[in-house]
Amino acid sequence: MYDVNSKNAQDFIHHGEILETLQYAEENKDNLELISKLIEKARKQKGLTHREASVLLACTDEEKNQEIFKLAKEIKENFYGNRIVMFAPLYLSNYCINGCTYCPYHMKNKTIPRKQLSQEEIAKEVIALQDLGHKRLALEAGEDPVHNTMDYYLESIKTIYGIKHKNGAIRRVNINIAATTVDNYRLLKEAEVGTYILFQETYNKENYELLHPTGPKGNYDYHTEAMDRAMEGGIDDVGLGVLFGLEQYRYEFAGLLMHAEHLEAAFGVGPHTISVPRLKDADDIDASEFKNGIDDDTFAKIVACIRISVPYTGMIISTRESQSVRERVLKLGVSQLSGGSKTTVGGYNEETESEGDSSQFELSDTRTLDEVVQWLIQMDYIPSFCTACYGLGRTGDRFMSLLKSGQIQNCCHPNALMTLQEYLMDYASPTTKALGEKLISKEIANVPSENVRKTVAENLRLIREMNR
Ligand code: SAM
Repeated sequence: MYDVNSKNAQDFIHHGEILETLQYAEENKDNLELISKLIEKARKQKGLTHREASVLLACTDEEKNQEIFKLAKEIKENFYGNRIVMFAPLYLSNYCINGCTYCPYHMKNKTIPRKQLSQEEIAKEVIALQDLGHKRLALEAGEDPVHNTMDYYLESIKTIYGIKHKNGAIRRVNINIAATTVDNYRLLKEAEVGTYILFQETYNKENYELLHPTGPKGNYDYHTEAMDRAMEGGIDDVGLGVLFGLEQYRYEFAGLLMHAEHLEAAFGVGPHTISVPRLKDADDIDASEFKNGIDDDTFAKIVACIRISVPYTGMIISTRESQSVRERVLKLGVSQLSGGSKTTVGGYNEETESEGDSSQFELSDTRTLDEVVQWLIQMDYIPSFCTACYGLGRTGDRFMSLLKSGQIQNCCHPNALMTLQEYLMDYASPTTKALGEKLISKEIANVPSENVRKTVAENLRLIREMNR
């Protein structure tokens, strides 16, 4: 039985319901009357169910698909404006006891050099990241209860928040680590972690078990119910994702939306973010051996359909994707972007870089943060280094209700401008600085209230005078 309120993973992401959804979508993929109705429903910006969204994903009618893309763009602009939140991954450790067949961290891989950063090395990495201008990090690590303990993570988070260097500090630390217990999630919350990110990899249990033949990650139920435990432990910002390429994309899409519906039904708050990673070649992993890879057009359609189905959920794209793919999906729904990323343990600082290549996967976008920022500005996006919401405790359902009512735009836009101005003063190249300042001058006019506009203009003046 499919039960959206159930705490049991088997019930809330029910295999039978996914199969019925796929059949329903297949039967209705040319039903233009229904598709038009669903597009109209999505236009109300209150989202779609997994069944409805799956029909739109399956639709092959060119005209209707163009309408879906156009609507995704409109919804993206309405909810997120032209702001793009910037972040960087920080790889703490690649020790791992799992046997995931698609990941080079798998235990049997003897060619990859294993490394765990010490607290001193973390500090060096963080200073290198701060010197680039980053304010928001996503911690990454393999699963290894001996090396990568909860105490290690807690200490690392404390180290990171504690580093005050030159012009600022890391203001938000998100974390992507293996599924854990309610008590551990509570400890992470107490350590003021931001979003807890965990990719489902695949929602197909049978396939999941084949892809995770050994190690604790092989327990599908424990992995799938991780977000329930995280919520129970008080982490109200959780980030979902699947690794596209492992399973048929329509299956994953339905599972992802069912997971989001479940969180909303059971906890009153949907996922804070959805990531859309695609499988890449890596050390001893050949992505072409996995037969469910998706092309760029399908990828763009998935992003657009997610955008119109869960308008209030942020979407993240990493440097797994090329500049051109990133450019395309930014328009369709992506609201957070990494820049200048290194997926090697210790990759940001020469002193901490490990010998040999310990990177987790091949990057397609290898530009520096400054190049990414400049590129965004040239496309009229505002790269945002803002983390103000979290400082003010606007997380979880409070954040969602603000976002759903559209109010968050009133404070996000000015904050994005001010944090961009800080970035331009402290870290940008002369060209990026000149282009950024031009954009900021233009964007001030788009601050709705006159009073806020005046305050922002004054703050920008102060920042320019280095008087922050
Ligand atoms: N240990 C954590 C876990 O068990 O979820 C974090 C894993 S890893 C540091 C972060 C993510 O990288 C994984 O969840 C997986 O989706 C992704 N990943 C693994 N191998 C990959 C590959 N070959 N290409 C692209 N992404 C990959």
